[in-house]
Amino acid sequence: MATGSQKKQPRRRSTRQRRAILNVLRQTKSHPTADWVYEQVKQEIPNISLGTVYRNLKLLRDLGEIMEISFGSAQSHFDGNPNPHYHFHCLDCNRILDVDIPVRHELEQEVRDHHGWEVHRHRVEFYGRCDKCSRQREE
Ligand SMILES: [Zn+2]
Ligand SMILES: [Zn+2]
Repeated sequence: MATGSQKKQPRRRSTRQRRAILNVLRQTKSHPTADWVYEQVKQEIPNISLGTVYRNLKLLRDLGEIMEISFGSAQSHFDGNPNPHYHFHCLDCNRILDVDIPVRHELEQEVRDHHGWEVHRHRVEFYGRCDKCSRQREE
Protein backbone atom coordinates (compact mmCIF):
# COMPACT_ATOMS: atom_id res chain seq x y z
CA MET A 1 0.00 0.00 0.00
CA ALA A 2 1.35 3.44 -0.87
CA THR A 3 1.99 5.47 2.23
CA GLY A 4 0.98 8.67 0.45
CA SER A 5 -2.64 7.54 0.26
CA GLN A 6 -2.81 7.04 4.02
CA LYS A 7 -3.28 10.76 4.70
CA LYS A 8 -6.83 10.72 3.39
CA GLN A 9 -7.90 7.86 5.61
CA PRO A 10 -10.91 8.49 7.79
CA ARG A 11 -9.92 9.16 11.37
CA ARG A 12 -11.75 6.14 12.71
CA ARG A 13 -9.50 3.82 10.76
CA SER A 14 -6.27 5.33 12.03
CA THR A 15 -7.63 5.23 15.58
CA ARG A 16 -8.34 1.54 15.17
CA GLN A 17 -4.83 0.94 13.84
CA ARG A 18 -3.26 2.85 16.69
CA ARG A 19 -5.33 1.00 19.27
CA ALA A 20 -4.36 -2.36 17.76
CA ILE A 21 -0.67 -1.44 17.89
CA LEU A 22 -0.99 -0.25 21.48
CA ASN A 23 -2.79 -3.48 22.44
CA VAL A 24 -0.03 -5.62 20.96
CA LEU A 25 2.57 -3.70 22.96
CA ARG A 26 0.57 -3.70 26.19
CA GLN A 27 0.20 -7.48 26.00
CA THR A 28 3.89 -8.32 25.77
CA LYS A 29 6.87 -7.81 28.03
CA SER A 30 9.35 -8.70 25.29
CA HIS A 31 10.17 -5.12 24.18
CA PRO A 32 9.72 -5.99 20.49
CA THR A 33 10.95 -4.28 17.34
CA ALA A 34 8.60 -2.53 14.87
CA ASP A 35 8.84 -5.58 12.57
CA TRP A 36 7.53 -7.89 15.27
CA VAL A 37 4.69 -5.48 16.13
CA TYR A 38 3.83 -5.32 12.43
CA GLU A 39 3.58 -9.14 12.17
CA GLN A 40 1.23 -9.25 15.16
CA VAL A 41 -1.01 -6.36 14.12
CA LYS A 42 -1.29 -7.82 10.61
CA GLN A 43 -3.22 -10.75 12.05
CA GLU A 44 -5.92 -8.33 13.12
CA ILE A 45 -5.61 -5.77 10.31
CA PRO A 46 -4.24 -7.68 7.28
CA ASN A 47 -3.85 -4.64 5.00
CA ILE A 48 -1.86 -2.51 7.42
CA SER A 49 1.56 -1.43 6.12
CA LEU A 50 4.88 -1.44 7.94
CA GLY A 51 5.08 2.31 7.32
CA THR A 52 1.80 2.83 9.14
CA VAL A 53 3.04 0.76 12.06
CA TYR A 54 6.24 2.83 12.22
CA ARG A 55 4.36 6.10 12.07
CA ASN A 56 1.95 5.07 14.81
CA LEU A 57 4.76 3.80 17.02
CA LYS A 58 6.48 7.19 16.80
CA LEU A 59 3.17 8.94 17.46
CA LEU A 60 2.40 6.75 20.49
CA ARG A 61 5.91 7.44 21.76
CA ASP A 62 5.41 11.20 21.35
CA LEU A 63 2.09 10.92 23.20
CA GLY A 64 3.88 9.18 26.08
CA GLU A 65 1.81 6.00 25.67
CA ILE A 66 4.83 3.82 24.95
CA MET A 67 8.60 4.01 25.24
CA GLU A 68 11.18 3.66 22.52
CA ILE A 69 14.40 1.98 23.55
CA SER A 70 17.37 2.21 21.24
CA PHE A 71 20.71 0.55 21.73
CA GLY A 72 22.94 2.57 19.45
CA SER A 73 23.08 1.14 15.95
CA ALA A 74 20.57 -1.70 16.44
CA GLN A 75 16.86 -1.45 15.62
CA SER A 76 14.67 0.36 18.12
CA HIS A 77 12.63 -1.66 20.56
CA PHE A 78 9.27 -0.60 21.91
CA ASP A 79 7.84 -0.88 25.38
CA GLY A 80 4.12 -0.79 26.21
CA ASN A 81 4.99 0.40 29.70
CA PRO A 82 5.70 4.16 29.48
CA ASN A 83 6.56 4.52 33.19
CA PRO A 84 10.26 5.15 33.84
CA HIS A 85 12.14 1.92 34.51
CA TYR A 86 15.53 0.44 33.73
CA HIS A 87 16.35 -2.33 31.28
CA PHE A 88 18.73 -5.24 31.25
CA HIS A 89 20.04 -6.46 27.92
CA CYS A 90 21.22 -10.07 27.84
CA LEU A 91 24.18 -10.26 25.48
CA ASP A 92 23.69 -14.01 24.99
CA CYS A 93 19.99 -14.31 24.10
CA ASN A 94 19.47 -10.62 23.22
CA ARG A 95 16.41 -10.37 25.41
CA ILE A 96 15.57 -7.01 26.96
CA LEU A 97 14.24 -7.46 30.48
CA ASP A 98 12.63 -5.02 32.89
CA VAL A 99 14.74 -4.23 35.94
CA ASP A 100 12.59 -4.14 39.07
CA ILE A 101 14.60 -1.62 41.07
CA PRO A 102 13.36 1.94 41.62
CA VAL A 103 14.54 4.62 39.20
CA ARG A 104 17.26 6.65 40.94
CA HIS A 105 16.01 10.20 40.51
CA GLU A 106 18.70 11.34 42.98
CA LEU A 107 21.23 10.82 40.17
CA GLU A 108 19.65 13.75 38.37
CA GLN A 109 20.03 15.91 41.48
CA GLU A 110 23.66 14.81 41.78
CA VAL A 111 24.45 15.90 38.22
CA ARG A 112 22.57 19.15 38.83
CA ASP A 113 24.54 19.83 42.01
CA HIS A 114 27.85 18.91 40.45
CA HIS A 115 27.57 20.73 37.13
CA GLY A 116 24.72 23.16 37.58
CA TRP A 117 22.95 21.69 34.57
CA GLU A 118 19.21 21.38 34.31
CA VAL A 119 18.57 17.62 34.11
CA HIS A 120 15.23 16.48 32.69
CA ARG A 121 15.66 12.73 32.81
CA HIS A 122 18.27 10.00 32.68
CA ARG A 123 18.65 6.57 31.22
CA VAL A 124 20.56 3.58 32.50
CA GLU A 125 20.98 0.33 30.57
CA PHE A 126 22.42 -2.81 32.08
CA TYR A 127 24.26 -5.37 29.97
CA GLY A 128 25.24 -8.89 30.86
CA ARG A 129 23.96 -12.45 31.00
CA CYS A 130 20.46 -13.31 32.22
CA ASP A 131 19.71 -16.06 34.76
CA LYS A 132 18.42 -18.41 32.04
CA CYS A 133 21.57 -18.11 29.94
CA SER A 134 23.79 -18.45 33.02
CA ARG A 135 22.06 -21.71 33.95
CA GLN A 136 22.46 -23.03 30.42
CA ARG A 137 26.19 -22.36 30.58
CA GLU A 138 26.54 -24.35 33.78
CA GLU A 139 24.81 -27.42 32.37
ZN1 LIG B 1 19.83 -14.50 28.17
ZN1 LIG C 1 10.50 -2.25 29.83
